[in-house]
Amino acid sequence: MSDRFENSLDPTDWAHLRRQGHQMLDDMFDYLEHIREQAVWQPQPQTIRDSFQHALNDGPIDLADVHTLFMQTVLPYSVGNAHPGFMGWVHGGGSPVGMLAEMLAAGLNANVGGRDHAPIELERQVIQWLRTWFAFPDTAGGLIVSGTSMANLIGVLMARTAKLGSASRQTGILKLPLTAYCSANTHISITQALEITGIGSQALRIIPVNADYQLDSDALRASIAADKAAGLCPFLLVGTAGSADVGAIDPLPRLATIAQQEQLWFHVDGAFGALAILASDQSHRLAGIECADSIALDFHKWVQVPYDAGVILVRNQAYQLDTFASSASYLQRETRGLAAGSPWPCDLGPELSRSFRALKIWFTLKVYGTVQLGQMISHTCELAQYLKQRIETTPQLELLAPVTLNIVCFRYRCDNADKINAHIVIALQESGIAAPSTTRLQGHLAIRAAIVNHRTSHCDIDALLNATLAFGEQAIISQTQDNL
Ligand SMILES: *Cc1c(COP(=O)(O)O)cnc(C)c1O
Repeated sequence: MSDRFENSLDPTDWAHLRRQGHQMLDDMFDYLEHIREQAVWQPQPQTIRDSFQHALNDGPIDLADVHTLFMQTVLPYSVGNAHPGFMGWVHGGGSPVGMLAEMLAAGLNANVGGRDHAPIELERQVIQWLRTWFAFPDTAGGLIVSGTSMANLIGVLMARTAKLGSASRQTGILKLPLTAYCSANTHISITQALEITGIGSQALRIIPVNADYQLDSDALRASIAADKAAGLCPFLLVGTAGSADVGAIDPLPRLATIAQQEQLWFHVDGAFGALAILASDQSHRLAGIECADSIALDFHKWVQVPYDAGVILVRNQAYQLDTFASSASYLQRETRGLAAGSPWPCDLGPELSRSFRALKIWFTLKVYGTVQLGQMISHTCELAQYLKQRIETTPQLELLAPVTLNIVCFRYRCDNADKINAHIVIALQESGIAAPSTTRLQGHLAIRAAIVNHRTSHCDIDALLNATLAFGEQAIISQTQDNL
């Protein structure tokens, strides 16, 4: 050991670190192997919350001790989406392969903003695979991002560039009366994207949906016509492929036609639903997605890549460069050496330093293969149909929305249903048996089960149903007693 290295953060005793590292890896394998035996979720006791209020130490603490703290205060009180009983929101379950790949990426510590190195080629390869899945042309490109919220923002910005030209980067939108269109069932991140871009969410026309929660294309045509007659400038149409609340898919071919006729950028929010493209019995539902100008989707939902990993895919990458690249830098890059390989990922989005998210996606796709991933996606849809059938044959329960993909919205039939059903969902979560979430559909509170996790099976659906019935019955009894 030389004193030249005394400021390094590396250990002096690598053998000791190795042992500790292997222990940490084993602890995570144990967690995943035995996850079924744990509660899905449990509330944090106040003592645990308080433990996060301590001032930071000046001196070092042994890695083993910090790891023990993690095992005691963090791991048992995490959100629970790795558990097969987790059905809330739309959360992926992660996978052991993704976890290992994430560790490798952290060890490598590549900055994937730019320069000429293999991690960038690997990201380009992932984009290339996506291009073939969605039958996009050779002009297509894309960028791996944190998630669909960021991908939607990039989509909105490219739509602005397509309508106003790249000069709008300098001029802003100059009070041009841009208008955009999406359904009432669209994710909030689209509204936020209009807010962040300065276009303003008032420019977003919320088009009603039909009984299947799909954007009503006649209402869309009427809204566009009214805006044009008023001298406004329609620029963007957002279609959803798999809505967050019920899993509905907008009529994509019709939307593509309208977008083309009206010269609108056609962006598809396919956060989880777009990956049904891998499932042979579901992919037909996505017909028309290949006509999109851009698609936003998440790898961290249905293909179970650990958080976070989303992507923006664009039919013609020129719009992405026109929106983000500073031509002064990207046209003048080196042709050899580490500073070659232009354009760089930083020319395709707002981030410069970027983590090597592509590695966990690449490992997941290669190790499991698209056939197995597609079958896993199909299986979650089958489980949703199973849940739907059980609801329909259980008199105490009522289905509240059609089941297109993997999301089932239902409720316990009773008086005061909103209050009782909200109570049931909290009781389910606190019981540790299952963790659905809620949504509101046509004024009613629904219990919402989004079956995303690859570990979920029929027994988890049965457990959700049995516990829903038990908590529903209990809630009614205790309500009656309260009223006496
Ligand atoms: C989850 C989701 C989003 C947001 O994606 P993040 O990855 O959480 O940013 C957007 N749209 C839909 C339809 C979603 O399901």
